[in-house]
Amino acid sequence: MPRTVHIIGAGLAGLSAAVRLIERGVRVQVHEATAQAGGRCRSYHDLTIGMTIDNGNHLLLSGNRAALSYLGAIGARHHLIGPGSATLPFIDLANGKRWTLRANDGLLPWWILDSKRRVPGTSPLSYLSLLSLLRAKSGATVGETMTCQGTLYDRLIEPFLLAALNVEPPQGSAALASAVVVETLFSGGRNYHPLIARDGLSTAFVEPGVEFINGHGGSVSFGRQLRAVSFDGDRASALDFGDDTIALGPADAAVLAVPPWTASALLPGITVPTAFRAIVNAHFKIEPAAALPPITGAIGGTVEWLFAFPGRLSVTISAADRLIEVPREELAAKIWREVAQIAGIADALPPWQIVRERRATFAATPEQDARRPGAATAWANVALAGDWTATGLPATIEGAIRSGQRAAQIATDQD
Ligand SMILES: Cc1cc2nc3c(=O)[nH]c(=O)nc-3n(C[C@H](O)[C@H](O)[C@H](O)COP(=O)(O)OP(=O)(O)OC[C@H]3O[C@@H](n4cnc5c(N)ncnc54)[C@H](O)[C@@H]3O)c2cc1C
Repeated sequence: MPRTVHIIGAGLAGLSAAVRLIERGVRVQVHEATAQAGGRCRSYHDLTIGMTIDNGNHLLLSGNRAALSYLGAIGARHHLIGPGSATLPFIDLANGKRWTLRANDGLLPWWILDSKRRVPGTSPLSYLSLLSLLRAKSGATVGETMTCQGTLYDRLIEPFLLAALNVEPPQGSAALASAVVVETLFSGGRNYHPLIARDGLSTAFVEPGVEFINGHGGSVSFGRQLRAVSFDGDRASALDFGDDTIALGPADAAVLAVPPWTASALLPGITVPTAFRAIVNAHFKIEPAAALPPITGAIGGTVEWLFAFPGRLSVTISAADRLIEVPREELAAKIWREVAQIAGIADALPPWQIVRERRATFAATPEQDARRPGAATAWANVALAGDWTATGLPATIEGAIRSGQRAAQIATDQD
């Protein structure tokens, strides 16, 4: 019997595990509980504004090497677009001041010596404050590790870490912040060119992934919620989907690429993150001016990032638990005022949609980071994947894809 690896969950962790296994010649079957793939990184047709939008705007950086290798494998790398350089315009909504960060590509960050390229009001020496993250004590927060105030913090470090960690940076894990900074800001500008999926997340990350799996002898089935796992000694012996049960042969394996609360219900005794943070997105149906950059950072208001897509302006607000109970109309009007300021628009509120993902990511605090399990489990033929597993990164596309690739490695190491 050829061996089969069953992958539970068709988010990016599950899809990337499947793609990696196929590349290694392993037969895969992906089982997804809902009617669509992509999990927290997907597009959908929104009836209110009558267009296809993403559940949340997703920003990648050119140093997200696993994400780019996954896109390369499924032939979808061209769907990510960006300025082709580490260039990021910002606005301070409190005083209207604008600036553009322009980092050089090389490892030596000479851009911080140039007052026209670095953050205004900062000195080159102030950038050394980031070095303290490299010496972070185990279990320390960012707030315990570096000074969380000053112009550089307000205008660059806070927006960057807030987006990466999805917790207020002072509470965030210094180890996770350090990992992100090392792979991007400390690796030369070529590793932090901003990238977005201009035609939508599903077009870039999901549909080509599913096509790749189906086109290489694998399968992706929907409406397949794993309800229970049976065990026999140190192996999983069967997967129960309610209407049918799959018996696992001696060479078969399972990768659980499901959310942490589902994994802990399915696998006895595993420790998982238990605290989460929201992300709020606002979408406005309006054609952006051609001159508006694809991504603009904002400080001093509610909006944090403004994305310009064809026919739409979209906003991301991280660690947004404070906005969950705000009435939708109030929130849309408040956000629109800021969007109009950033984009220089005088129009009244256009058709809009607010998407609030309550459990967008686990809270990247030291306590929650310590609860993340590795990919290997107590069962020889079961591996875990997901952005919440111990990837060493916060909950990001890059972390999710690395986790899938790591789980695929564990599943093939059994051979
Ligand atoms: C609003 C928002 C904005 C974000 N912005 C960014 C960003 O800018 N940059 C970035 O890098 N990351 C961002 N992220 C994070 C990124 O989306 C996630 O890290 C990534 O999508 C997680 O993928 P995953 O496969 O680990 O988990 P998920 O996407 O949660 O996938 C889990 C899958 O398992 C399925 N499932 C659950 N239970 C079962 C079961 N019992 N049986 C079968 N299937 C099951 C689910 O339906 C789902 O499809 C954002 C997330 C959100 C929500």
